[in-house]
Amino acid sequence: MEKTLRLLIDGQLVDGAGTMPVINPATGAAFMRAARADTAQLDAAVAAGRRAFPAWARHSYAERRAYLERFADGVEARFEEFARLLTMEQGKPLDQARFEVGGTVAGLRYFAAQDIAPHVIRDTPEERITEHRSPLGVVAAITPWNFPLILLVVKLGPALITGNVVIAKPAPSTPLTTLLLGEVAADILPAGVFQTLADANDLGGPLSAHAGVAHVSFTGSTATGKKVLSSTIDTLKRFTLELGGNDAALVLDDADVAKIAPMIFNAAMVNAGQVCLAAKRVYAPRVLYDDLCKALGDLARRAVVGDGMEQGSQIGPIQNAAQYAKLVDYLAQAREEGTVVAGGEPLERGGYFIAPTIVRDLPHDARLVQEEQFGPVLPLLPYDDLDAAIAAINASEYGLGGTIWTGDPDRGEQVAALINSGTVWINRHLDLPFDVPFGGAKQSGIGRQQGLEGLLEFTQAKIINMAKA
Ligand code: NAD
Repeated sequence: MEKTLRLLIDGQLVDGAGTMPVINPATGAAFMRAARADTAQLDAAVAAGRRAFPAWARHSYAERRAYLERFADGVEARFEEFARLLTMEQGKPLDQARFEVGGTVAGLRYFAAQDIAPHVIRDTPEERITEHRSPLGVVAAITPWNFPLILLVVKLGPALITGNVVIAKPAPSTPLTTLLLGEVAADILPAGVFQTLADANDLGGPLSAHAGVAHVSFTGSTATGKKVLSSTIDTLKRFTLELGGNDAALVLDDADVAKIAPMIFNAAMVNAGQVCLAAKRVYAPRVLYDDLCKALGDLARRAVVGDGMEQGSQIGPIQNAAQYAKLVDYLAQAREEGTVVAGGEPLERGGYFIAPTIVRDLPHDARLVQEEQFGPVLPLLPYDDLDAAIAAINASEYGLGGTIWTGDPDRGEQVAALINSGTVWINRHLDLPFDVPFGGAKQSGIGRQQGLEGLLEFTQAKIINMAKA
């Protein structure tokens, strides 16, 4: 029988109402089990969070900082265990897992150091009016399966330092690293301040709708985000929605193909393309189109696809069977409607592997161009007119990120101003410092994470208005 990781509820590591297997996507076989919570445990966690909130909120920033620093130390002490568990449950190569665990520790420390001081609006001999930022209460942190640790930490760190308590609900296929965070927190944080609930995709709705939850911080698909939005209405709870994207990489005609191709390839293929901000479609000027297709195809053929635990693997498996089936379907469309430059097939080796795929000559209305593929299958489209390319990019219902590739960064900045999305990078990608806000335009989300804006999302303004006389 495989080992089972437990839930953290009210300061105790407890069994779930049941257990569920967790599959290693590199083999397709279960390797560990996770406790599975039921709605009674959900209610217990919300009640414990509400009991813990007043004392946690009354602590000073310095007191909460000391707890968060110890939490970061606790994760760091088990760094390699976290990294290996992340590769086993998520699939990413071990060096990328180590990078995510490093970011988790750094994120906890960064947010631990933040402090929102009261803002004096007016201070005269007669009166003083001050704006304070109060915490909200129990925060539900709901996460997807592509970056189970770092996407939780950009919620957890800001929510805890500003005085909220957090219930983390990971995706059902990647619960283990979140449960391990709970194990670490059990010995460090006061009961109810951080809790973990793993589910079989059945508790996200009840958690979002729960009257005892004050804020839902959700990262996941746009379809589920809309359900979260509707479940916040009855209690008018606050929410942050980080949703899907269909980011374009826009290549300008002054770009150096040899230089940008590896960067675009990485932007599309890191984490096997399962990144909300991955480059999901490439628009290239016709004069560079053939060369770029060829360069990306060469990179795809050379990339080492394999089990993330094997030294040298650059691209791991697709994280779960449902996503794998979706990508196999996109591959069939790519073969039918376009020209496959490289890849184009699943790989017969156990687990959920597909060959990194580059596709050209697809029509603009192909589903692989219009939808979020969320995998290592990249379509390239030629353009003759830059304005038309920008219009095609902006026609998407999504607006999460995007990249511009150019020999002239200043020109790139002018073009970036025309792209309707939350972030546009020029000649770089996935640079997401903790002090820079990040979030979506249009149906890619509402609200921001990270930066001052991200911290403020977990607070509300409270005015204290004093007559001095
Ligand atoms: P998903 O929406 O299927 O699931 C996300 C989480 O929501 C899971 O924990 C799931 O159990 C939970 N959930 C399911 N039903 C729910 C409900 N009714 N109410 C509340 N929660 C519910 O997404 P996924 O397939 O796990 O992740 C992939 C998606 O996430 C992609 O669209 C990707 O672009 C997006 N994503 C966005 C960001 C961002 O920051 N914008 C980051 C990473 C991933």
